[in-house]
Amino acid sequence: MKIAVINSGSSSLKFKLFEMPSGRVIINKLVEHIGEPNSSVKNHFEAIESLHVNFADIDAVGHRVVHGGEKFRNSVLIDDEVIEAIKDLIPLAPLHNPANLEGIKVIRHKAPDTVQIAVFDTAFHATLPKEAFVYALPYEMYEKNQIRRYGFHGTSHAYLLQEAAALLNKKVQETNIITLHLGNGASACAIKNGKSCDTSMGFTPLEGLVMGTRCGDIDPAIALFMQNELGLSADEVDNTLNKKSGLLGLCGENDVRNIERRSDERAKLALDIMVRRIQKYIGAYMIVLEEVDAVVFSGGIGENSSYVREKVMNNKILKNIKSLVIKTNEELQIINECLWVLKNRKITQA
Ligand code: AMP
Repeated sequence: MKIAVINSGSSSLKFKLFEMPSGRVIINKLVEHIGEPNSSVKNHFEAIESLHVNFADIDAVGHRVVHGGEKFRNSVLIDDEVIEAIKDLIPLAPLHNPANLEGIKVIRHKAPDTVQIAVFDTAFHATLPKEAFVYALPYEMYEKNQIRRYGFHGTSHAYLLQEAAALLNKKVQETNIITLHLGNGASACAIKNGKSCDTSMGFTPLEGLVMGTRCGDIDPAIALFMQNELGLSADEVDNTLNKKSGLLGLCGENDVRNIERRSDERAKLALDIMVRRIQKYIGAYMIVLEEVDAVVFSGGIGENSSYVREKVMNNKILKNIKSLVIKTNEELQIINECLWVLKNRKITQA
């Protein structure tokens, strides 16, 4: 059986084809600079053409879709209705969902009979209780405008849960952990009895931890001050908070390997601010969970930086908690989700 995983972004497309059940990677390709001036790849159709893959030969294609809103609580088989629903969610993920849809549509066009499955970054957090996902804003803004915490990195947190449960020798549904996906984008998740019950990213991936270029939590009035007093446009504020802040804004670069090597004050401060934010989330989630089997470190920083891990856990309270380092594998999680959808489909058809 052949299963492909596609991560279709606005200007890049990652494609991996797996032979299952062996897990052998048959094709691994990355197409970049899609639609950029001077690029030979004008659009997603050309990007997918450039892979030279016969999609009719593939049993299932799993797509990473960033936003599933409140509608999608699990991975689903893609049909016309699902495509419309992903389209309806574009206002919530204006950069990501259109690119994800492009990938889906091109493959539908090229191989209409090939099964496609959408795996949503938000779906793992569908179990958040209301007190975790409703913001203290006028309630109509939740009901009418869909403003709420959604959470992201769901495939990674879901994978880490499965792996952590196995390492802890516990059933998934009895596992209580705090997962830290610390990459260029970063989020924390409180998992109670195998279910996401709080997470640090919110309405968008901007909230929460200090990231490579995103600020994470700030006083929202700062955004208004930037507009009203500093004269920045809404787009400039967006760009500042998402692309010029975080570690990059604090010390001029966002590669933790380089920042760790530096001995200047600003580099040290950037890491201290990042570590303190992580500790604050762990503290908050310990209270939410009441019982914590382990803190799980993952993502490029969590997996590789013993400096960051030790700084985070070097605390009187945290010293008594087990910490695990698990290499995340979002592709494998997407494959597992595809297999789950295919199995359920067979059961429904039987
Ligand atoms: P990701 O987004 O998960 O690929 O993670 C990217 C981040 O991981 C970057 O900030 C890298 O600096 C960081 N990273 C990768 N390798 C190391 C390492 N050996 N030590 C510290 N940070 C690392």
